[in-house]
This record gives sequence, C-alpha cells and structure tokens, in this order.
Amino acid sequence: MKRIYTDNAATTKVSEEVLNAMLPYLTEAYGNPNSLHSAGREVRQAIDKAREQVAAAIGCDAGEIYFTAGGSESDNWAIKGIARRYGKKGKHIISSKIEHHAVLHSLAALEKDGFEVTYLDVDENGFVSVEDLEKAIRPDTILITIMFANNEIGSVQPIEEIAKVAKAHNIFFHTDAVQAVGHLPINVKEMNIDMLSMSGHKFNAPKGVGALYVKRGIILPNLIDGGSQEKGRRAGTENTASIIGMGVAIENAVKVMETESKRLAALREKLLNGLLEKIPYCRRNTPKENTLPGVANLSIRFVEGEAMLLMLDMRGICASSGSACTSGSLDPSHVMLAIGLDHGTAHGSIRFSLDKYNTEEEIDYILEVFPTIVERLREMSPIWTEENRAKIQ
Ligand SMILES: *Cc1c(COP(=O)(O)O)cnc(C)c1O
Repeated sequence: MKRIYTDNAATTKVSEEVLNAMLPYLTEAYGNPNSLHSAGREVRQAIDKAREQVAAAIGCDAGEIYFTAGGSESDNWAIKGIARRYGKKGKHIISSKIEHHAVLHSLAALEKDGFEVTYLDVDENGFVSVEDLEKAIRPDTILITIMFANNEIGSVQPIEEIAKVAKAHNIFFHTDAVQAVGHLPINVKEMNIDMLSMSGHKFNAPKGVGALYVKRGIILPNLIDGGSQEKGRRAGTENTASIIGMGVAIENAVKVMETESKRLAALREKLLNGLLEKIPYCRRNTPKENTLPGVANLSIRFVEGEAMLLMLDMRGICASSGSACTSGSLDPSHVMLAIGLDHGTAHGSIRFSLDKYNTEEEIDYILEVFPTIVERLREMSPIWTEENRAKIQ
C-alpha cells in the first residue's frame, strides 16, 4: 500500500537535492571546519555558504545567523537569553496562548525564576490582537515573543504590526518562525524582527539542525561555552552535513515559494471544503485568510482524534490530531482550547499538513476515504446520538 504522508507540520522528508548536497560531507569531506588544513577549510567554506543561504532567505547578514540543533533550542536560547541578560531592566514578558511548547515551557521556567508572563488570548481563528498587545505592555516589559505561524491551525500573525509596537516601546521582539520559514516570505529587516527561530526539518532539511537570527547589537549570553564556533556563543564542532543541507533546503524552498504556496493553498481548500461538505457536524479550524499554505485543520464532532488517526493510518494516511491522549495527558491541545473549542470539539480535531510532495490524487483519496471512516466511528460512538446532535443544532 502506498503511504500518503500529510503530517509535514510535524516533520518533512529530506529532499533528494538536500541529501545529495550533504553526502560528500558525510563521506570524503569529513574535515573539521575549525582545522587550518585544506580538509578543514573546504568544510568551513561550505558552512560559510550555508550561512549566506540562510541569511539571504530571511533578509539579514550572515553574521546574524547562529546555527543550533533546531527550533526548540533556538526558542530556548532567544527567550532565556534575553531574560538572563536584560532581567535587571524588567521581569515582564508578553507572549500568546497558542505558542509551541518550546516557547511556553521556556516561559514557564522563567516564571519559576520570578519573571511574569502575559499570555495574550487569540480569537476564534487563532489571531492575537495588536490592541491587546499594546494594552499588555508595562514599563518592565523586556520581551515580546509571538509565533509567526501556528503549527496546529496555520494562523499567521500580524508580525509586522506586532514588531512595530515592540520597536515603538523599545522592547525586544522574538518570533518562533519554525512553521513560516521556507513557506512564507520573510524579511527580518523590513519586518523589524529582532530574533527569529527556524528549524531545518520543517523545510526538507534533516532533523536536529536549526538557526537563530539575532539582530546585530543584541548580545545573548552564550548557550554553550567551549570553543569558538558560532562566535563562541554556541560552542561545539558544527553539525556540518546538516547545516550544509539546511542551506540548500532553504534556498530551494524560497525559489519555488510563490508557485508552491499557491498550489498548496488550492489543495488545502479542496481538502477542507470537500470534507466540510461530505461530513456533517464539522468545524473548520484553519482560518480562511492569513494562514499557512499547507495546514488544514478541522474538528469532527462526536469522534476522537486518536481513533481517526488510527483508522487513517490503516488506510495508509499519516495525519495528526489535537487530542493528546498518547502523550499521557487527557487535556486536548492548548491551541484548540485557546480558539474557544469545547473539550469534545477540541478532541475531535484533525490536521492534514501538506508539502511539495503531496499531489491532488492524494487529496482525492483522502476525500474518498476519510468520510467513511468518520461514519463508521460515529456509528460506534455512544455520544453520537440524536439527542446530542439536537443539542448542538
Ligand atoms: C516543530 C516546531 C518547533 C520545534 O522545532 P524542533 O526543531 O523540532 O525543535 C518549534 N516551534 C514550532 C512552531 C514548530 O512547529
């Protein structure tokens, strides 16, 4: 059976071009980029090029890019770094209720250390209000950290406006752009972004490599002390092949972004509209505008997300849900609750996330298979009763 992979917001496949670009650095070109001999120098040059490629993709200088081990590390470094360095100036941070756990749990750690965090609400489409943000600002606010685009529902925040507010108040602005980089146009200079996190494996580079953009002039404390790598701020011999792969991946993603985002958005709408038409008692969780091209999230009432995932998997379809039973928690996703869904509707959420390898035939197959899965699950469900359905009419 052919596998249909629609969980690209969780991770993507390493593309062939990226793998081919990496292979020499896992085989013959194995020098340490910090060595002075030719074997080291050739790897150093390749890393320099990757840094240029990453910088060009987001509109900054190569000297403002720090390679890390991924999105979580970049988020931790930016947030805890600003807190450590500028905590004497103030102990208040503003974020949102729909951030990734890498941000939320970094903030929770800071709260234990005496920082105060305001988590902005979002509306039913997953957008923060710039007005709310302005109201939340205090004299002791040192950092605003708000994600560029949400990994569960796709909502893209008004980043330029948020950054403008931060700048006007002289507050640092960090954005977790892990879902946005390679998928949406970004220019950190034009957008007034001070720090930005990205992760290679969300745009067809390997897992375990990412980057943090830090605007020149902002000094974060060292993340790892040791050698002089990453200007001494994040020591350790570079993850050479992965860094080089990430450079190629980001360049390729930007090259096809315009056409690919149109194609993906059309597939996303076909999938969402088709499912909403075929399945009664559904809610579209992905906003209609200002949303990631490839993320389609909806809630199927009276069905558990986990059950849908297992049945989809049996038919060869990989998707994801906002129900977190497998992670040992009975609470549905914080994002689903933040957009105002009741627990039942939140537990019935399902996410299909598409990328360049998904085809229209795959969407057609999902449209054919998924409604019958829902029908079967509802027939078995004790909450799928006339009485319950009448209640939500
Ligand atoms: C995947 C993801 C992360 C974590 O990135 P890793 O590289 O897996 O650590 C952080 N934020 C968002 C929005 C993500 O989608």
